[in-house]
Amino acid sequence: MLDLGLACCGVEVMAALHEEGAPTEPDATEPPDLPIGWVLVVSGTVTDVMLPAVLATYAELPEPRYVLSVGACSNTGGPYWDSYSVTKGIDQLLPVHVAVPGCPPRPDAVLGGLRALHRMLTEGATPGTASAPGTSEGDTA
Ligand code: SF4
Repeated sequence: MLDLGLACCGVEVMAALHEEGAPTEPDATEPPDLPIGWVLVVSGTVTDVMLPAVLATYAELPEPRYVLSVGACSNTGGPYWDSYSVTKGIDQLLPVHVAVPGCPPRPDAVLGGLRALHRMLTEGATPGTASAPGTSEGDTA
């Protein structure tokens, strides 16, 4: 797993992966072991300055590779959707397998996204948006 923490959401990913976020779900204490491949976690605001580094990192990952987009900024541009210098959704440029909504998503929501990716790889679930605890009502992407 490779975490590109580009802004505040990156802190939530770090908390999720290092169990500092005190997940509230009993079964949400650890990231699942993915069967095979690399997961690129894009968390935070993807600015035009950072975009080439994000794309280059993805290009360097060997197959099979998957993309987990974490937070409103990475999913849609978030609060900066109308900024001239922010990508309005990394899915426009990379094949996002699971998107975790929230601004920011709680650590257990990040783990929920990883579990959704795990289900996709092991059970053939379809890619999409992870529904996970810690996502505030009204968070759309
Ligand atoms: S979605 Fe919210 S918390 Fe996450 S990087 Fe953007 S502004 Fe920060």
